[in-house]
Amino acid sequence: MAPTFERAVVTGGAGFLGSHLCEKLLAAGTEVCCLDNFLTGTPGNLAHLLSDPRFRLVRCDVTDFVHVPGDVDLVVHLASPASPADYLRLPIHTLKVGSIGTLHALGLAKDKGARFVLASTSETYGDPQVHPQPESYWGHVNPVGPRGVYDEAKRFAEALTTAYRSTHGVDTAIVRIFNTYGPRMRADDGRAIPTFVGQAMTGRPLTVTGDGRQTRSVCYVDDMVRGVLAVAQGELAGPVNVGNPDEMTVLEIAQRIVEVTGSRSEIDFVDAVVDDPKVRRPDTTLIESALGWRPIVSWEVGIARTVAWFAAESRVA
Ligand code: NAD
Repeated sequence: MAPTFERAVVTGGAGFLGSHLCEKLLAAGTEVCCLDNFLTGTPGNLAHLLSDPRFRLVRCDVTDFVHVPGDVDLVVHLASPASPADYLRLPIHTLKVGSIGTLHALGLAKDKGARFVLASTSETYGDPQVHPQPESYWGHVNPVGPRGVYDEAKRFAEALTTAYRSTHGVDTAIVRIFNTYGPRMRADDGRAIPTFVGQAMTGRPLTVTGDGRQTRSVCYVDDMVRGVLAVAQGELAGPVNVGNPDEMTVLEIAQRIVEVTGSRSEIDFVDAVVDDPKVRRPDTTLIESALGWRPIVSWEVGIARTVAWFAAESRVA
């Protein structure tokens, strides 16, 4: 069977999600050209793909320019710092890659006549006043709070993507990705799951922010990549929520990681994060009804695979 896409460009492909996406595209028979400046990702995430002649890795900052010779029928724009620790450390770059980087990636899709998929985020909903969050909700974002650099960069990227669709007729899609976890997350990237796994595996206390009653809905990476590809292969313009609606408090996530790692670590409550969303859960009606996608990897299976990967790689921070 012919692959859905002949040749894809993945910006940010050396990161956590991007490396899994490149892998799945290649497995489906698509040639892949990955553009990454290794700011928060690493070529090590793609080492196993480098010998494949259908895979090309190009070091490039998409805020400078994006140039790819030859035909391209899919552009997936993932390049952006994604963890709070990264975007708080890189606020201006985060705004540049969400704006100028997205402009360049859209320009490539326009030039090649390719389908364009923007990796947006549940953070466009900010600290939501509607729960769970449907795509029709406009969000509750503080533009001048510390997280504004990421949330507003992605909101601008969504507006730009929409303008390229309406003005230039580019075949665009926007996916709003909810918290995702799995192998190849950086142990020190500051996101809750790798932080808790690292702390539990080294017997340190798990640092839960605030009272730990804030909720998250976490999706295993294989499900997420399958969801993003389903949107890429379909015709929806989006925005489309992709995430696992299985909601847990952050304290529960910490407790369950202590259990699964067999750790004796205790839980330490530390200062709440400024503007941290109190609740987070995707309404996935759209993607379920339009594309038949739903997450299939349970928390128990996903976290066991993630812990096993961190243990095998000795990647605990
Ligand atoms: P990541 O940090 O692991 O990957 C991002 C990649 O983009 C890295 O490889 C980095 O080097 C690259 N990059 C950054 N700036 C660049 C630039 N100017 N030019 C070229 N490459 C650049 O993050 P991730 O978790 O894999 O997230 C990927 C995308 O998905 C991001 O756009 C993020 O906003 C979105 N997203 C992720 C999650 C999640 O839970 N992982 C949730 C919502 C949205």
